[in-house]
Amino acid sequence: MPLATGRSYLAIPGPSVSPDRVLNAMHRTAPNIYEGEIIDVTRTVVADLKRVALTGQNVAIYIANGHGAWEAAICNMFSRGDRALLAATGRFGFGWAETARKMGIEVDILDFGKSGPADPARIAEALRADTDHEIRAVLVTHVDTASSARNDIAAIRAAIDSAGHPALLAVDAIASLGCDELRMDEWGIDVIIGASQKGLMIPPGLGFIWFSDKALAVSQQSGLVTPYWDWKPRAVGAEFWQYFGGTAPTHHLYGLREALTMILDEEGLENTWDRHRRLANAIWAAFDAWGKGTGIALNIPDPSARGWSVTAATIPNGGAGALRKWLETEAGVTLGIGLGMAQPTEPSYADFLRVAHMGHVNAHMTLGVLATMEAGMQALGIPHGPGALEAAAAAILR
Ligand SMILES: *Cc1c(COP(=O)(O)O)cnc(C)c1O
Repeated sequence: MPLATGRSYLAIPGPSVSPDRVLNAMHRTAPNIYEGEIIDVTRTVVADLKRVALTGQNVAIYIANGHGAWEAAICNMFSRGDRALLAATGRFGFGWAETARKMGIEVDILDFGKSGPADPARIAEALRADTDHEIRAVLVTHVDTASSARNDIAAIRAAIDSAGHPALLAVDAIASLGCDELRMDEWGIDVIIGASQKGLMIPPGLGFIWFSDKALAVSQQSGLVTPYWDWKPRAVGAEFWQYFGGTAPTHHLYGLREALTMILDEEGLENTWDRHRRLANAIWAAFDAWGKGTGIALNIPDPSARGWSVTAATIPNGGAGALRKWLETEAGVTLGIGLGMAQPTEPSYADFLRVAHMGHVNAHMTLGVLATMEAGMQALGIPHGPGALEAAAAAILR
């Protein structure tokens, strides 16, 4: 009989696990959206969203997923025919570029492959070549959720500055916000994109854009912006409805209020990052042990270029697909599919998987996933090196 009965664990990189406290906060009747409590709750949510991105500048909330926030960022930053430079480090950058192109932006893509971060020197070189300063913004994914590569955002800012280029720096931090160190003002980021269902631990449905005063000034000239996606009234709405372009996402705001309290006031933002770092270390240590002489491998060889919220890996000969299936049906754990590494029609598609360690995840959940994976490898006869669980236990303490 399968061992799946019990609380199941969705360990895919979004939606992440929502704390019961967050779900309970959402489980209530709708408030009046014209006056009273929800207006005060929103005021504190806006202030705390700035704390979570470490900025004193602006934030806009959208009823949207990450794709909606991508589109919102593009229409506020650009006019039709403008140019952008995008650094791709996996799959999500290409998705954002596609959105921008369909909106009439000319996107120059620097493709850094799927197994490492962007090289800031190549970004600087591309900007130096743009002597007329036609490039309006540099677009980059902080942590690409498909490859699990993490970019050095401060180094990319320094590269833009070294080229003496005025382009905005816009960062998709959907997979990393609340998990990986991210400092908007200190690192000179102009635009950050986030979504509710990853590190912020609430169900899908909210997109966020943090934007600098410089980006706000640029957006005054944007020819693409439409009323619903305009970030200006959302950041400084004279009336409450303007923050949301209509009815507020009432229940999500209560959930977000609870999640921000947990991150900022109870655990502490830096402790939240550090928990993710340690969980990631445990996962990487297990994969390193499994990989001895077996072909099992992490996607990103350099540990300093790996995101702390999601890990992409290979288990060859279809092992990843078989293991995912075993975990889901026999053990109650769902791992992420390998995304963007091979087409679903190619046999090698079953060689890739992702383990999420994003948001409301602790040591026993992560060590439990690893031990369950080890059991699955035994059950399925997948060759794996010894000592993974001891290595993970030691690593999680560091
Ligand atoms: C999840 C994700 C997206 C897409 O978000 P949706 O809510 O699915 O639209 C975009 N970028 C990154 C880095 C992500 O992790």
